[in-house]
Amino acid sequence: MPDAPSPPVSMETLVALCKRRGFIFQSSEIYGGINGFFDYGPLGAELKRNIRDCWWDDMVRRRDDVVGIETSIIMHPKVWEASGHVAGFTDPLVDCRASKQRYRADQLFFAAVVVDGATVGYVSALESERTPEALQEAAESLKRKKAIQGRLEPVKPRDMTEAAPEEIPLIPSPATGEPGSLTAPRSFNMMFQTNVGAMTDASSVAYLRPETAQGMFADFKNVVDTGRVKLPFGIAQIGKSFRNEITPRNFIFRSREFEQMEMEYFIHEDADWAKCHREWINWCRDWLISIGLPESHLSEYDHPKEKLAFYSRGTTDIMFRYPFGVQELWGIAARGNYDLSQHEKFSGLPQSIFDEATKRKIVPHVIEPAVGVDRIFLAVLCAGYAEEDVKDDKGGSEKRTVLRLSPRIAPVKVAVLPLLKNKPELVARAQALHKKLQRRYAVFYDEGGAIGRRYRRQDEIGTPWCVTIDFETIEKDGSFTLRERDSMQQRRIQEAELFALLEEKVY
Ligand code: ATP
Repeated sequence: MPDAPSPPVSMETLVALCKRRGFIFQSSEIYGGINGFFDYGPLGAELKRNIRDCWWDDMVRRRDDVVGIETSIIMHPKVWEASGHVAGFTDPLVDCRASKQRYRADQLFFAAVVVDGATVGYVSALESERTPEALQEAAESLKRKKAIQGRLEPVKPRDMTEAAPEEIPLIPSPATGEPGSLTAPRSFNMMFQTNVGAMTDASSVAYLRPETAQGMFADFKNVVDTGRVKLPFGIAQIGKSFRNEITPRNFIFRSREFEQMEMEYFIHEDADWAKCHREWINWCRDWLISIGLPESHLSEYDHPKEKLAFYSRGTTDIMFRYPFGVQELWGIAARGNYDLSQHEKFSGLPQSIFDEATKRKIVPHVIEPAVGVDRIFLAVLCAGYAEEDVKDDKGGSEKRTVLRLSPRIAPVKVAVLPLLKNKPELVARAQALHKKLQRRYAVFYDEGGAIGRRYRRQDEIGTPWCVTIDFETIEKDGSFTLRERDSMQQRRIQEAELFALLEEKVY
């Protein structure tokens, strides 16, 4: 994938491509959809599976110090008391009483409109790349509407969590444009509740997990007791998580059901946690690059010390430049030994391990890289999407849409195309190659339409290579044409070379 910054693709274009080519559909679309839930279509399911598989291979199978587990989605409710989620997994919520819309208070911005030192009103805007500009424009328009003379001061954006109680009735709702309908922010717990068993009383309340991490902590002793690990070591898992997000948005970036890939790396309490933290940040960044994300789209954000939870020593997010702004992709947190200590307290069972070096029992500390599969999925689509002007068969110019996905994650690795579908020898050879490739790789057989059009179809879904079986293949040395997606260059290649190429690039 080229590293030069390219113009960002619009979300409308991406969403349309995802639907058209069967990457992502709205969940329950035939009933009008359900906000914050998505389905992955045939190509999407492949791409997502490849992202998961690459992570699992690199994080678990190819490391000697990490083991993988799979824990249940519904756990004992005490888990979520111990972890602090029951009391504190909340977002600040603001209601608009007039429109019945709900907003996350930290994503709803407002500003006083100040003319010649006097406040003449308030304006509001939802968080976006251009929140300050939007507020400034709204302030200018309010001044004009009220026909106020004087000098308008530059607006100072604040979010609703910073609003003074007397300001709240004066701030207009983004839904109606009128003040008076917004409520003060209140805490909203994002865990989905359910009931386990036939009773639906307080004793049967359980939660869909809002993160996979607690599975690793709750099973810590089980993993240690199976005897395969010693400090430092990691426990990893991939699985669904659920959060009743107040404002799911930006397609699959923030949804209510999503998939996480998390790893808890346990270290000695005296270990150099900052060094280990740094090593994991680097590992995560390198891994993202290895599946095709351009380095130029990645950056780091260190959470300010004063905003960290009391037990946290440091959190760094790897940020990605999405079309809607630079946003968190992967959080890497140094969490001390808070989680294990809490489970020790709430379960009454020791969560310590015996340290051979110091002959002491210790509760290990942890570094936690936590990432969402869906956010990676969106990132690779955003970075890989391009529209190019290319030469058509007749020497004219035509537009091609191409998804420059890494061969590691591309849903289809190779398309096998017989040059002509009415020549049985070509078709038979192509089908034989297709069958052989299929044993190891996701491949696609396509005999319909002009060869140029077939290449374009594959470009649009990110297939790195097409092979065309032609008369030379059957009449001469068996070689066929290999066409590369990104360069569009073609060359003759033997079957063994094709397998060697795939072996090298698809890992
Ligand atoms: P945010 O601040 O964006 O809500 P977070 O800091 O709450 O995210 P974590 O609890 O650290 O997120 O979760 C770890 C990872 O899980 C995130 O970095 C992100 O990739 C993913 N993730 C979290 N919430 C969602 C969601 N609602 N939809 C999709 N992915 C999510």
